[in-house]
Amino acid sequence: MQVDILIINGQCINPVDANIYNWIAIKKDKIVAIGTGNEYSQFADSCNEIIDAKGSTVLPGFYDSHSHLVQTAINHVSLNLSKATSFSDIGDLMVEHIDKNPGKPIRAIGLDEQNLKEKRLPNRYVLDKFCDSAPVWVNKYEYHTSILNTYALLHYKIPFSVAGIELSENKMPTGVFRHFANALLRENILNDMSNDFRWEALKELMPSLINCGITTTASMEGGFMFCDKDADFIHEYYKALPIDLVLFYQTTDVKKVKNMSLNRIGGSLFIDGSFGSRSAALHSNYSDDSENKGMLYYSQEDLNFFLLECYKNGLQTALHVVGERAIDLALNAHEYAFKKTGNNTLRHRLEHVELPTASHLSRSKALNLIYSMQPAYESYWGGPDKMYYKRLGERYKLTNPFCEIIEKGITVCGGSDSDVTPANPIIGIHSAVNHPVEEHRTTIMDAIKMFTINSAYAMFEEDTKGSLEVGKLADVVILSDDILTIPANHIKDITVKTTIKSGNILFNIITQRDGENNASSIDKYVGTYNYRIQD
Ligand SMILES: [Zn+2]
Repeated sequence: MQVDILIINGQCINPVDANIYNWIAIKKDKIVAIGTGNEYSQFADSCNEIIDAKGSTVLPGFYDSHSHLVQTAINHVSLNLSKATSFSDIGDLMVEHIDKNPGKPIRAIGLDEQNLKEKRLPNRYVLDKFCDSAPVWVNKYEYHTSILNTYALLHYKIPFSVAGIELSENKMPTGVFRHFANALLRENILNDMSNDFRWEALKELMPSLINCGITTTASMEGGFMFCDKDADFIHEYYKALPIDLVLFYQTTDVKKVKNMSLNRIGGSLFIDGSFGSRSAALHSNYSDDSENKGMLYYSQEDLNFFLLECYKNGLQTALHVVGERAIDLALNAHEYAFKKTGNNTLRHRLEHVELPTASHLSRSKALNLIYSMQPAYESYWGGPDKMYYKRLGERYKLTNPFCEIIEKGITVCGGSDSDVTPANPIIGIHSAVNHPVEEHRTTIMDAIKMFTINSAYAMFEEDTKGSLEVGKLADVVILSDDILTIPANHIKDITVKTTIKSGNILFNIITQRDGENNASSIDKYVGTYNYRIQD
């Protein structure tokens, strides 16, 4: 048999059974043979792409089970002000950005006035000094405050009477937008963005996903704090991308997603908020706010009604639940809908599930629910000295108990929640294995499963993806090291050397030839790529 690609000398791990092979043969878009020792030699003569993995780990292509791709893409091409330490820094960065993007509207992100020597936000007069010939929109790092220059203020036309518009002494807008005014402004600007702009941004983002080994990503788009146009955009453009995108539409409009022929609904469909903003719904008060135990965005009755509709319409659901009370609410609603329909085959997902109790785990298992979790949160905020401890006190020891959940038999799929944490599954795997609370840590194999086969299962794709087996799609990554023997605290240092999606080599620094660069090899597949697994 003639094959197209041969990967040799690898530690090729099949996460389904933990078997290890040494080589993989790929023909067209599929894995056609896999084995140990030198058996591959039968294919070698006629194969013109032999990749020597040199003892490194070879895995199925990575999944990111929960990302906000449009937001990530737009941020990727935005001006990043997170390093600015003064107004004049902002000006320098802005001028540099304008040189590269002349005449284009400027969207800046990441501003934190605590880092500025002025210790206050700039106003429109400050921004006008750096740019008065195009709209400038500066976002604070948490997106809840915006600043516009005068050009943008006139361009985006928000009525000055809206609550949250800061006014000067003589009742003129300063350019600073907060609260409701900020939400309205966001919606206006995001709706004003053309799909061409989104497309260009997404194309620019693609290499960074592919270089991290991502071959499929779930994109949670639309709805509250986001923009429905993002979801419609992904639905229209996903086939033209070199990797697979699975759209989750963050809406409760069952009819709309049915009309789009989607068989899933939700994503970051907020049942509660987050620990960071003290809006995750806890059983007892926040440690740093003794009057507050967070909030629920749904009544039990409304959530019961919504989930029953989804069960009846055969829709897989994904609900954002962080605190115990939100998990309670979601489980009650699932139990209600299951009792009414008897259907537990839709692979419903709970997103984040950061503070589950033992009883939540038993109830979730009985309902066949999948937990879609973001291990990297623990690297950023977990442990005794970070944000979770500030908000939750000793309860920081209870967050994201991966090991207990897996032992209970619940399928856990892994995601980044990009742009909240970087879209890099290696960081996710590292974080699951190195959870700051020892008893919650997973084995390396369980962490790999989260970002491969379990994620495939959570998207009904386990028959074609998520493992290294003959007949499956040739979605394969080659790593820089042997992930099974590298010290656990160094997993994060592993890089991806090669990414293959459906037999197309999208990224490869092992056998790169002179004059060939990776950007051009990705370009080759953007816009021409027609493979799609399911809607
Ligand atoms: Zn999210």
